[in-house]
Amino acid sequence: MARVVQKFGGTSLADVERIKAVARRVAREVEGGHQVAVVVSAMAGVTDCLVGWTRETSRLHDAGEYDVVVSTGEQVTAGLVALALQNLGIDARSWLAWQIPIRTDDVHGKARIHSIEVAELEGRLALGQVAVVAGFQGLGLHGRITTLGRGGSDTSAVALAAALKADRCDIFTDVDGVYTSDPRIVAKARKLDKITYEEMLEMASQGAKVLQTRSVAMAMNHRVRVQVLSSFVDAPGTLVVDEDEIVEQQIVSGIAYSRDEAKITVQKVPDRPGVAAAIFGPLAAHAINVDMIVQNVSEDGRADLTFTVARTDLERAVSVLQEKRAALGFTALKPDSNVVKISVIGVGMRSHAGVAQQMFQTLFEKGINIQVISTSEIKVSVLIAAEYTELALRALHTAYGLDALG
Ligand code: ADP
Ligand code: ASP
Ligand code: MG
Repeated sequence: MARVVQKFGGTSLADVERIKAVARRVAREVEGGHQVAVVVSAMAGVTDCLVGWTRETSRLHDAGEYDVVVSTGEQVTAGLVALALQNLGIDARSWLAWQIPIRTDDVHGKARIHSIEVAELEGRLALGQVAVVAGFQGLGLHGRITTLGRGGSDTSAVALAAALKADRCDIFTDVDGVYTSDPRIVAKARKLDKITYEEMLEMASQGAKVLQTRSVAMAMNHRVRVQVLSSFVDAPGTLVVDEDEIVEQQIVSGIAYSRDEAKITVQKVPDRPGVAAAIFGPLAAHAINVDMIVQNVSEDGRADLTFTVARTDLERAVSVLQEKRAALGFTALKPDSNVVKISVIGVGMRSHAGVAQQMFQTLFEKGINIQVISTSEIKVSVLIAAEYTELALRALHTAYGLDALG
């Protein structure tokens, strides 16, 4: 007998027919003699719609009330999945985050899970009852509802699996695993049987939305066995594993892209000590994260500084810097959200030279200009114009030998 957590994403729960199919999937696991906790996302499109309503009602809205609204999608699917299971003769009960509770901090809109009280759930699982848990939501420090950031029900599932010491955490989605690149853009992308925690973490944080970044970090810290698979086809998916479980390690295992960043160029700041601190200090004070940075020194003792921030922070970042214009002494500020960040990822990079060079050469051959570069131990990222996203992804995928055969 195993204890498993099964998480179903929005597409898998998009309508009542699919919810019934999900219930049949869960029922199979129960009939196999296993204890099952289910974590649900909202129906496809529902969270987007709820987010839209909060924006329409109030552009600069209160994050606490945003959470009250956007967390509701998961309440609907939790109840429906429990009903569908009951219809199959399976003992099932839905759980909202506050009922368990799943405790979080108070950072509304992107709260972090602190703890999950599992005693009651464990008792029911032991009696053969299926617990259907609303993902994405939590209970904040002051008794208010919180949400975990977009894609957060992956994190609910992994956290619950860790707390329940589950044998497996299956993430059911609309693709049958983790691919070498987004299969919706790169037709030749290959499904990976296994990927290391570290690579998955880097893929997710560089934009591969198949798993929320925090869910991977949590799986890595708590050694949760995560599998990504399709709720539509019956086939093994991708296992996220330790590095020593991978026999033949590729140098590059995946290519991710992110359209969530925007670029700002601060033109002609005086090139002297303290300038970077003067620019990035105020941004940090406003909780605006800076990702990639490049500085070009010109001859007249001035420099252009280019960097990226989250696209959602662009407007705020520009206004913070404009306020400091006199002190910073720049001549112009150029925001640009028509950019995409492309990243090649692989633990094999640690021991192989030339990965970055191959990226630069490939983009050069396609006539694509690189605007900013950043690297880490297992990743090289470049910022390019958004219109080249598909071209760059496909060319790099071929250049690193990742294309599926045939
Ligand atoms: P869910 O609603 O099930 O959580 P998501 O839309 O959040 O589903 O995540 C699945 C999507 O992630 C896929 O449809 C796919 O387009 C996208 N994706 C991006 N990069 C990858 C990748 N490397 N492998 C698989 N899917 C990816
Ligand atoms: N429904 C939430 C979202 O769309 C959480 C999730 O799908 O994981 O972001
Ligand atoms: Mg998701």
